[in-house]
Amino acid sequence: MHKKILIIGAVALGTKVATRCKRLNPNTEITMIDQGSFISYGGCGMPYYLSSEVEHIDELQKTSANVLRNPQFFTEVKEIDHVKIRTKALEINRQEKYVVVENLDTKQQEKIYYDELVLGMGSTPILPKVKGLELKNITTIAGLEDAQAIRQHCEKGMNDIVIIGAGFSAIEIAVGLSDMWGINCTLIKRSPRMLPSLVSPTISDMIKNDLSQANINIISEEEILEFVGNENGAVCEVVTSNHRIKADHVILAMGIRPNMELAEKAGLACHAKYGVLVNEYLQTSDPNIYAGGDLIALKNLISNQEMNLPMGSMANRQGRIIGTNVAGGNPVIGMETFPGAVGTWIMKLNNGTVSGTGLNEDLAKKAGFDAISISMEQLDRAHFYPEKSMMSLEVVVDKKTRRILGMQGYCEDGTALKARIDAMAVMLQIGKPTLHDLSNAEVSYSPPFASAMDVFNACGNVADNIVTGLAKFITPQEFDELFAQKETNNYVFLDARPGLDPKKLEEKYPNYFYATSLETFEKDLEKVPLNKNIAIICNSGTRAYECQLKLKAKGIQSVNSAGGMQAMKKRGKEY
Ligand SMILES: Cc1cc2nc3c(=O)[nH]c(=O)nc-3n(C[C@H](O)[C@H](O)[C@H](O)COP(=O)(O)OP(=O)(O)OC[C@H]3O[C@@H](n4cnc5c(N)ncnc54)[C@H](O)[C@@H]3O)c2cc1C
Repeated sequence: MHKKILIIGAVALGTKVATRCKRLNPNTEITMIDQGSFISYGGCGMPYYLSSEVEHIDELQKTSANVLRNPQFFTEVKEIDHVKIRTKALEINRQEKYVVVENLDTKQQEKIYYDELVLGMGSTPILPKVKGLELKNITTIAGLEDAQAIRQHCEKGMNDIVIIGAGFSAIEIAVGLSDMWGINCTLIKRSPRMLPSLVSPTISDMIKNDLSQANINIISEEEILEFVGNENGAVCEVVTSNHRIKADHVILAMGIRPNMELAEKAGLACHAKYGVLVNEYLQTSDPNIYAGGDLIALKNLISNQEMNLPMGSMANRQGRIIGTNVAGGNPVIGMETFPGAVGTWIMKLNNGTVSGTGLNEDLAKKAGFDAISISMEQLDRAHFYPEKSMMSLEVVVDKKTRRILGMQGYCEDGTALKARIDAMAVMLQIGKPTLHDLSNAEVSYSPPFASAMDVFNACGNVADNIVTGLAKFITPQEFDELFAQKETNNYVFLDARPGLDPKKLEEKYPNYFYATSLETFEKDLEKVPLNKNIAIICNSGTRAYECQLKLKAKGIQSVNSAGGMQAMKKRGKEY
C-alpha cells in the first residue's frame, strides 16, 4: 500500500515537500491542499510586482521555463496525486490520522486520511486594534490577492499611501511604490529604529537616509490611533499620536504571527509566540506530523533561544528536508536534519542594500553575551579600480571570548555586500568563529571584486584592535552628541581627512575643529589645545586610528568616530 502524505499549505514549503518527496519516492500518494486560489508563487517578488518592475502577476507563479505553477502543473508535470485549492483544513484528528477539510466554494467537507501529515500553513499579518480597520483600501500584503488589489489601485491613480511597519515588507513596498509610481509614501512605525531587532542605530540611520532620498516620509515612535473614512467608506486619513496623514490606501505590514491554531487545537507542542515546536528532523511533538516555514519556532544557533524566522529561503530549505524525510529518508544518510538557523537576510533599498546575519548588539546582550558592535567603512574593491562602493560593515563580538555573534552592513553595491554577509553566515552556521577567524578568512581577491585586504578581513582587524584596546572608537551618534555639547564638554575635534574639507570645518568651527593631516601631524598638533578631550574623525576611520596611535605614544588619549565622515554622509549628517 502506498504511504499517504497530506500537505496543508501549498506555497513555499508545501510544494517543495511534495515535489522532493515524489522525486525520491514515486510510490507515495501525496495530497496537497491550500485555502487560497494561487499556489507556489514567489511571495518575495510581490514588492517588485507592486513597483511594476515585474509586469504581470503570473510571472511570480511561473517556472524559469515560463510554465505556470498551477494545480495542473503539479498533478501533470510533478505527478502530485491530488492538488486541491480553495480547500481549508479545519481540524486534525491525530488518533485516527485524518484531517477535516472544507471546499470554500461548495462548503462541502471531507476527511482526508494520512500516514504522515505536513503542516506548511505559514503566517498571518498582525493587525492593529484600532477604529476604522474595516474601511475600503486598507490591505495587508500577505498574498497575491493583496498585491493585485494594491497594484490595481496604483494603476487607477492614487496620491498618498501610508504603510504601517518598520520591517522588510514595509520598507520594500515603500521603496517600490514611491520610486516607480511617484506616490507620496509615509511609513509609520512604533519603534525608533528601522529593522529594530536586526541592525544598529547607525545602520538604521543609513536606511532612513536612503529612504528619505526616495521621498519616503518616515514617522517614528508613534501609535496608530484611528483610520478615518470618506463618504464612500474608503480610508482617507490615518490618525497617529501626533499626526493626521492623508491616505488613499493603507498597507498593514506590522509583522506576522504563525498560523498555529490548527496545531494547537490538535494538541501539538507550540511556543506561545514563535510557532509550532519541532525537532531536528522537523517533526512536531507527534512524529507523524512534520512542520516548517513561517509556522515553526526555530532554534537560533547563536543564542540557543527560540525564534521565528519568516523567510522564503528557510521554507524552501526546510521543505526539501521534510520532503526527504517523509519519502523515507535520504537513500544514503537516512533522515535529514535542520539544526536551526542564525538569521540571514538582505534587502534592496532605494540607493543601497542592507543585509545581516546572526545577532545585532541588542539581541546579543539579551542572550547574555558581553557584546559590542564595531562598525567600519572600507571600499568593497581595490581603491585604484574605477568602479567601487564604500561598504559599511559592523561586526558583533563577545568581548570576553572574541566570538563573533553577528554581522550587518549597508552598501550601494548589494552583490558585494551579500558576498561578505553570506561568508559570515556560513561561518556562524557551522562553527563559533572568532575575530582571528574573520581576520584570516580566506576570501577571493582580484581588484575588480575586492581589495588585497578584503573589507571582510579588515572588519575583523578593526574589531580586533578595538577589543584589544589598541584603538578606542565611538559611534557616529556619540560623535554627534559630543559635538552638540562642545561648549560644555571640553572637547576639541581633529579632522584627519586629506584635502580641503578639514580646512573648511576648521574655519566654520574655530577653536573646535582642527585640520590635522597625517602627513603634517606633528606640525598641525602645535595649534591643538592638547589639554582638552580629543575626538578624531577622518574619511573612513583609518587615518583617525593612526593619529590616535601617534597621540597615544605621547600619552594623550582620544576617541575615533567609527566609519568617519563616510558613515556620517550615509546617515545624512553634514558638518
Ligand atoms: C511582501 C513580502 C516579501 C517577502 N520577501 C521575502 C524575501 O525577500 N526573502 C525571503 O526569504 N522571504 C521573504 N518573504 C517571506 C516569505 O514569503 C515567507 O517566509 C514564505 O512564503 C513562507 O512560506 P510558507 O510555506 O511557510 O508559508 P506561505 O508561503 O505563507 O504558505 C502558506 C499557505 O498555507 C495556506 N493555509 C494556511 N492555513 C491553511 C489551512 N487551514 N488550510 C489550507 N491552507 C492553509 C495559506 O493560505 C498559504 O497559501 C516575503 C513575504 C512577503 C509578504
